[in-house]
Amino acid sequence: MTRFAVTRLPVRVVAAALFDARGRVLIADRPPGKHMAGRWEFPGGKVGAQEDERAALERELTEELGIKVIAARPFMTSAHRYPDRDVELSLWLVEDWRGDPRPLDGQQIAWAAPGELGDWDILEADEPFVRALGALTGTDMSTDQNFDVRNPRSGEVDFHFTAPTTAEIGRIAAALRHQQPVWRDAGIAHRVAVMQRWKATLESHKEEIVAALSQDTGRHVIAVGEFGSMLGAIDRWCRLAPTLGAQPDGRSEAWPGVAYGYTLVPYPLVGAISPWNFPLILAFIDAIPALLAGCAVLVKPSEVTPRWVAPVQRTIDAVPELAAVLAVRPGGRETGEALVANVDAVCFTGSVKTGRLVGVNAAQHFIPAFLELGGKDPVIITADFDPERAADIVLRAAITASGQACQSLERVYIDRRIHDAFVAALADKARAIDINWPDIHSGYVGPFIFAPQARVVEAQIRDALAKGARVLAGGEIENHGGEWLRPTVLVDVTHDMQVMTEETFGPVIPVMAYDTLEEAIALANDSIYGLSAAVLAGSLAEAEAIAHRIEAGAVSLNDCSLTAMMHEAEKNSFKLSGLGGSRMGPAGYMRFFRTKALLRQTGTPATVAVLAEQGAAPAR
Ligand code: NAD
Repeated sequence: MTRFAVTRLPVRVVAAALFDARGRVLIADRPPGKHMAGRWEFPGGKVGAQEDERAALERELTEELGIKVIAARPFMTSAHRYPDRDVELSLWLVEDWRGDPRPLDGQQIAWAAPGELGDWDILEADEPFVRALGALTGTDMSTDQNFDVRNPRSGEVDFHFTAPTTAEIGRIAAALRHQQPVWRDAGIAHRVAVMQRWKATLESHKEEIVAALSQDTGRHVIAVGEFGSMLGAIDRWCRLAPTLGAQPDGRSEAWPGVAYGYTLVPYPLVGAISPWNFPLILAFIDAIPALLAGCAVLVKPSEVTPRWVAPVQRTIDAVPELAAVLAVRPGGRETGEALVANVDAVCFTGSVKTGRLVGVNAAQHFIPAFLELGGKDPVIITADFDPERAADIVLRAAITASGQACQSLERVYIDRRIHDAFVAALADKARAIDINWPDIHSGYVGPFIFAPQARVVEAQIRDALAKGARVLAGGEIENHGGEWLRPTVLVDVTHDMQVMTEETFGPVIPVMAYDTLEEAIALANDSIYGLSAAVLAGSLAEAEAIAHRIEAGAVSLNDCSLTAMMHEAEKNSFKLSGLGGSRMGPAGYMRFFRTKALLRQTGTPATVAVLAEQGAAPAR
């Protein structure tokens, strides 16, 4: 038998690290026609058979960029194996050069700060150089991201994970994108059936998922509730999705021969970035309708609460059709940025500060961003509402999840005539509320999930007290390893205090008396946020009349924080609380499609005669 040895061509390549006055390094994309075109690399090229490296470097940089190398020294080499060739790369540091770098036709060049090179889609062969340049320039180029995770009850680090590198996110996104057409074309009935199989698998893993989620958040009842909410969301969207999307065909008014219809095209790959306060449901709240719409989905949960991911991953792996189009990878900022760079639409839930960055990043990649951000929900309580009942409702809405909820009630405006009765009842009820320590199965209020949040809340309470507020209940953070705050009632507050203007995200209830309804509405609207709000009044009609004047995306009438309990009603955030289509109601599904119009010429197409100036009627 004859055997053929596979001979791979040995190739020598030189590349240049060329810096500008700001210390940025030049990278060039591989032009169309080249293997792996479009990815970035260091400029350079092949060393000729009779050439030495230095001469090859000078020639390549003149040919590729039009510059003249004055001084350069070899920096490092690496080897890379391609299917058909073995490449030996040599990177040179160009210490002095002249000219104005201009790319060849069809190529692009860019200056990148060494610390940010990891975010560019750099050719694998050049990655050793990226790391070495990081070491050289003293910037952290390591794309390894090891996270130590703190337990919110004990305060100890008891969990570790490694987030994917930027390159890995790129590969995961490419694999999901590759599988998505199969999922899209399989039809909604198939997707509903797969999602229902997933739901059944989730149910059979309930105990381990809830246990991990409890560890992430330091609370039990809400972990059970989140799990139930997720199953509810799967069922709700499975029922609703098949009924949505049909749009009637029509006929053009101007051109009666032209009929039209529509087809809906799902975004191939949707990204979801989620926060730590409801780690499970917020990771999937947008992913579930996106999957049913026919998109593939890449979810990046918060680095603060990643323990639930492994048990949920096992349920995804058990449903191969789903595993092909759904990936969940916890990580921090770098992973989030890489996700935005690789998806076709991004759903973000988190703070205004990060939401703004995600919005800018999405704009740069020209993809839609659906931003669900922070809030500072107010309630207006009129004199006709029973103060005792109001105290019950306000307490529940302000301390649910220890106030670590975007739609948590954070400001109370109450008619002065019932202020004292309300405040007395509220303080009594607040003092009766216990924390869930030392037993997680006791009390009502869990720990701060994210340690820095305790400092934010503490600072806001201090600021209020320094400016004249009084504490009627709670007020002191308790440290048991983890940190807890009992329901804290503040009175004599004003809008000069942070606690009335900045998001608190803790179980703090500041109460302010008003004399006129006009004043109450002005105070409620005096906020950079507009997520949701509430009105407690003598009748629903009275409450609704007030609601019309409040700048918020949803207003609960004669109750508070109803948005936390139901997902059917569409709502758009006002002001800095968010941007993009509603995540609730039918719009929460439809936003994952682009509408493609199909314009059918059923008559005779117009000819060039319609363009003739001659003989056209003059405009009057
Ligand atoms: P955060 O903004 O700090 O982080 C949110 C997510 O963004 C995390 O997964 C984080 O890793 C990621 N991230 C950080 N930097 C990023 C970047 N540059 N690019 C991409 N992703 C990045 O928010 P948080 O502290 O985790 O959550 C609390 C905030 O979330 C609060 O402000 C709260 O009001 C808000 N929230 C809003 C809603 C809503 O529906 N409107 C719901 C829950 C929470």
